[in-house]
Amino acid sequence: MGILAWRAELDRVPVLTSLAKRNIRIVSVDCPACGVMEETAEHVFITCGLAQAVWQAITIWCKVPPIFTFNIRDILELHKYSKFPKRKANSFYAVCLVSLWCLWKARNDMVFNGMAITVDSVVSEIKGLSYLWVKNRSGVSQLSWED
Ligand SMILES: [Zn+2]
Repeated sequence: MGILAWRAELDRVPVLTSLAKRNIRIVSVDCPACGVMEETAEHVFITCGLAQAVWQAITIWCKVPPIFTFNIRDILELHKYSKFPKRKANSFYAVCLVSLWCLWKARNDMVFNGMAITVDSVVSEIKGLSYLWVKNRSGVSQLSWED
């Protein structure tokens, strides 16, 4: 449920460039991960080197083709074009949502907690959370089937 709420909020994440547009005083709008680009939502979730490395690892893990998009909505639609059976497509969709959430959490850990974030740490968190979420959901559906 938290993740569904998160999806609804996805387009309104308070990245540095959107805070600057609202005249909130910030030191720099540069991405905290790479420092090369201004931080926009697309940058955090897709185009940043950190995000690209994470998506590359996730597509290999899920055995899907590499992702070529600059649009967060495209990521949320990926499972529809995956040619997976329905249940596997749903699981892949969960992995995509968890990945977006973990990228945002990693960004906040960098900005607010000064934590050093690595691709490996983000990817292993995505795998752990995805497993728990999918396992939890399949457990619930088995229960209702037996009922
Ligand atoms: Zn970046």
